[in-house]
Amino acid sequence: MAVENLEISLSELNFDTLAKDGDKSKLNSEMVYQRLDELTSVAGKLVDPTLLYEICPVSVKDGRLLFYAGDEIYSLDINDGLSELTPAREVVIGLITLGSAIEWEIRKYNSENQLLASYLLSEISISMMGQLIAKTKKMIMDLARTKDFCVSLVHIPGSTPGLSLSIQPFILNVLKGENKGITVNQHMMIEPFYSVTFLVGIGTAYNNHDLYPKCPGCSRAKSCAWRNL
Ligand code: SF4
Repeated sequence: MAVENLEISLSELNFDTLAKDGDKSKLNSEMVYQRLDELTSVAGKLVDPTLLYEICPVSVKDGRLLFYAGDEIYSLDINDGLSELTPAREVVIGLITLGSAIEWEIRKYNSENQLLASYLLSEISISMMGQLIAKTKKMIMDLARTKDFCVSLVHIPGSTPGLSLSIQPFILNVLKGENKGITVNQHMMIEPFYSVTFLVGIGTAYNNHDLYPKCPGCSRAKSCAWRNL
């Protein structure tokens, strides 16, 4: 299992969505953008951007997909949204997180009724996650290319049709997430909140070098980092 500390470039954070909100609600004042600058600097000190991933060889047996992770073998029902991973040679299982400190800062602003600060910090976190997703996407595509493999669609629990959040404990088990203080709550959501999990099949049976999600009808598709690298 690999752990990578990722870099975030604060000067390259994208706030296009915020600008659109600002047009609507007159939030685009100089004061707001000054606050955004201050909070971006705060956020840069709070986050601990980390990618955990495991590259698991896989095989199919009796309707189940077997994942080989070190000395352990995990088995999941193919019908639980995993059929597009069955032709894979390997599946990259990953989790990207900003860590919990920024989430606590947002909660603190909420509890103090500082709603603008809370909103702006949330937008900064979302933009940071986009940057980390873009880096991770490139890393997976490069990894596949070095092996002369292509990639499946990226499978995102809770977003990819048929792949429910109930797979998150499996992902955390493979990645030993508890060692980094990452858990799954009773709603199968990852904590810290600013985290995403994913699975990508790589192998010769796929046709695409580029990695895309399959989430029809998503309202955030235009700003989605998985979609728009
Ligand atoms: S299109 Fe992007 S933002 Fe929307 S659900 Fe899929 S991965 Fe998430």
